[in-house]
Amino acid sequence: MKITVAIDGPAAAGKSTVAKEVAKRLGYTYIDTGAMYRAFTWYCMEKGVDCQNEAACCALIPEVTIKLRPNGQVLCNEFDVTKEIREPRVSGNVSYIASYKDIRLFLVDQQRAMAAKHSVIMDGRDIGTYVLPDADVKIFQIASVETRAVRRYDENIAKGISCTLEEIENDVRKRDYIDSHRDFAPLKCAPDALTLDTSFMSVEEVVTKVIEIINAKLAEKGING
Ligand code: C5P
Repeated sequence: MKITVAIDGPAAAGKSTVAKEVAKRLGYTYIDTGAMYRAFTWYCMEKGVDCQNEAACCALIPEVTIKLRPNGQVLCNEFDVTKEIREPRVSGNVSYIASYKDIRLFLVDQQRAMAAKHSVIMDGRDIGTYVLPDADVKIFQIASVETRAVRRYDENIAKGISCTLEEIENDVRKRDYIDSHRDFAPLKCAPDALTLDTSFMSVEEVVTKVIEIINAKLAEKGING
């Protein structure tokens, strides 16, 4: 039986950390849709295209190929951009790129194709509302801005990406605003999603809770995961 789990929520809420671990424990494929928008942003910047110029960015669609490898590597036109896409310069521009409808449609097609093949746990902003409206399980993962900024700061430092806490907090606030105010498929909680506030939870607690939610939902629907 093929299962689809959607995890949405604001920037740096810990979605990818949790989704990756849940996928590993349940044997699902993890799909990081944010990495796809980040890779597209990286490509625009490589080409010297202004990320706030919608027409110029969308014109690059035919020349962009993005691949998510099972080991977490992200390839853009066969370049390994796994580390580059986490840099503050990409984070600072990705929400502009993600607000362009043509780029979203291009990437959403690929996300849906992946979900059609495997049991997936997919994280993003619009998975439960737009990409997979019929997902078996929908979770909206949130945490306070301060908690999210500290988590992302620690993560960046551990990865050797230099930044300041203030820079990260400003970026998180800016992305939340743009992501939830864009016209097409904005960040919002699906009416049938379960909201999980992780501000005071450890990663292990969230992982356990998410698995509990998935099992309960599948049981309720009579699905044998
Ligand atoms: O999840 P992550 O923070 O890596 O996502 C980077 C950015 O990509 C988000 O701030 C958002 O602008 C965009 N995004 C999106 N829809 C998704 C996933 C990410 O708009 N499904």
